[in-house]
Amino acid sequence: MAYHHRYLDNSPLSLPIGKIVCVGRNYLDHVRELNNTVSETPMLFMKPTTALLGLDEPIHLPEQRGSCHHEVELAVLVGRELRNASAEAAREAVAGYGIALDLTLRDVQNELKAKGHPWEVAKAFDGACPLSPFLKPEALPEPQATALELQINGEVRQQGNTEQMIFGIFDLMAYMSTHFTLQPGDVVLTGTPAGVGPLASGDVLTLRLASHDFSAQVA
Ligand code: ZN
Repeated sequence: MAYHHRYLDNSPLSLPIGKIVCVGRNYLDHVRELNNTVSETPMLFMKPTTALLGLDEPIHLPEQRGSCHHEVELAVLVGRELRNASAEAAREAVAGYGIALDLTLRDVQNELKAKGHPWEVAKAFDGACPLSPFLKPEALPEPQATALELQINGEVRQQGNTEQMIFGIFDLMAYMSTHFTLQPGDVVLTGTPAGVGPLASGDVLTLRLASHDFSAQVA
């Protein structure tokens, strides 16, 4: 089944499927667990539309490519064009909030990082961005103080709060819009808290955003 953006209550959402703009190293505890350094400006990368996958579809781990890590992240759906935008304009442009996995081929990424090469192929493969339906913006009144959690087979693996972000959601979107125009239908991923680790075939996942739980399964 092809991915399409939708709201949690299935009310109409007629936005095209756009690019996914992501930030690395945006929670201090995660920066430390991978022995990375804190960037002075947000470290951006992108995933293509072919990375999108509904959470109700099975997650397929790429074969023979080493470990595939989960990174649970707040996702923001862009509803209006943003170019060199202010943080305030970015806030007003939000069409919804969801929760996503920034799937990462960690072994591949580490090899490429060691060579000083781009690590796109570790992050942008088909299905590399499983994504929930969106809450309407008014359903998440404090997006910058919202709990997110990932459980695997009933065990909590990642737990954080968006208040721990180094670069806040709307400043981040404003910064992104100075590099790439954000268009209606684009999705912004805002970084992951600590606790990343490998997924295994058959894992049952629960992604929690505020009080909303979403289930997913690894094929
Ligand atoms: Zn990430």
